Parts: sequence; C-alpha cells; structure tokens
Amino acid sequence: MTFTYQRRYCGKIQAVLLDWAGTTMDYGCMAPAVVFIEVYRRQGVPITMEEARAPMGAHKRVHIQKIGQLDTVRSRWQEKHGKLPAEADVDRMFADFVPLQLDCLSQYSAMIPGALEAVAAMRRRGMKIGSTTGYLREMMDINMRDAKRQGYEPDSTVCASDVPAGRPYPYMCLQNVINLQVSPVAACVKIDDTVPGIEEGLNAGMWTIGLALSGNEIGLPLDEMRKLEPSELERRRNRAYTRMLQAGGHYVVDSIADVMPCLDAIEERMARGERP
Ligand SMILES: [Mg+2]
Repeated sequence: MTFTYQRRYCGKIQAVLLDWAGTTMDYGCMAPAVVFIEVYRRQGVPITMEEARAPMGAHKRVHIQKIGQLDTVRSRWQEKHGKLPAEADVDRMFADFVPLQLDCLSQYSAMIPGALEAVAAMRRRGMKIGSTTGYLREMMDINMRDAKRQGYEPDSTVCASDVPAGRPYPYMCLQNVINLQVSPVAACVKIDDTVPGIEEGLNAGMWTIGLALSGNEIGLPLDEMRKLEPSELERRRNRAYTRMLQAGGHYVVDSIADVMPCLDAIEERMARGERP
C-alpha cells in the first residue's frame, strides 16, 4: 500500500456549547470576580481585580486555590499569616465563597446584548444549544431560572461540579455531547470568554470561538466599558484578541452578537474537509 486514507466530517455544525458568565449573561463576568475579592479580604489578604480574574473559567474551588498560587498573592499571604496558603485555607475560603456567590448571582444575571438573537439564529440552523460553566450546580439553578425568565433555555447545562474536573479539561464539553446525542465531536463549536474555556473546547476536539469584549478579558460591565478612553479600550481589546488566538482559538470576536459569520466560516471549512 502506497497511500492511506483519512475520514473527514464534512457535514454541518450540530451543536454550539456556550459558556455562561461573560458569554451569554453577566457582561464583564462580574459576579465571580467581586466574590473572590471578598473571600480573600476576609482572610486579611486583599487582592486586586486583576488577580481575582487571572484563573477565570476554572472550577470555583480550583480558582480560589490558583489565586493563592499567584506570586504576588503568595507573598502577601506569607506576610499576613507567616506561612503559605494550604488546602485547609482553600477549603475555608471556598466555604465562604459559596453562600456569598449564591447571594449576589441574580444581581449580575442580565443577558448579554445579542445573546438571545444569536441563540435563535443557531436554532433556526438546526443547531442544538449546550452549555458549560465553572459555577456549581446550586449556582446554576439560580442562573438558569434567571435566564429562562429572559427567554434563554439551553438544551443541556453541565457544571464543573458535575464532572471529574472543570476547565481546561474537556469533560464538561464531552458530557454535553452525550446529553445532546451529537456525533461526531468535531461537529461542535465551543464559545467562551476565557482562555481556559477555549482550551476546554480544543481539548475536547471542537471548534472554538473566543469572545474578547463581553467577558473576563476586559472585565467591565457594558456601561463602564463604554466610558473607557477609545485608545485604552483598543489596547485591552488587542491584548484579548492576541491572548485568545495564541491559546488556539479558531476565531475571536467582540461578543456573542458577532459569532454567526464565524459559524458560517466553520461550516465552509468543514465542507472542504478541514478539522478543528
Ligand atoms: Mg465565562
């Protein structure tokens, strides 16, 4: 045999998997960020908004742990407590985190402009709608209720607490594949506002689209983002595009309002036999 032959999927997109905070609701991904700041403040170790956001996308307990592994936070913790943060400290902060997050979620649960329209357009194209999130199930009960009231109801929602590990592992995406009964995996597109969320989709073998403006990368509610100096917004926007493209995102756009042309492009590429 001189030749080998490769099988390639050249059909349509079958499912789109959407992140929650910063992707479909909570412009700026504010709800978790403010609570991470509060739980560290309660330990006598103030952290900046940037430090609070650095690990965004991960399971919330892992996120708390990763903040404590940042060099700057480690040294402040050492100074305050005379030792580095340990598992018991993470447990204590996570125990603080859960009720604080549950309490304030609904303040940040407004749908992101364009999300309902994008989901409707996907559905018209026959795409199923799945979702993944670093939130725990009890938090998602609140977000899902608020989303439904605003007209958004995905066919499947998988939380970090439902699978062996959250992002960047592919398990939440793959559980959506099972829930939605989609095949092959390469017929799915993962859309997210964080780098770990893009990695999650890539690790699952999916196409990925990063959202640069509406989520964790800029990290501001829409009205505050609009107040930024145009040059400052452009600087942050460029940084977000670069980070997400360098993480391997197939496409990066400003927000979910801009994704439909990317889905067209992905379908054209699949028709030519390209793979994610
Ligand atoms: Mg997000």
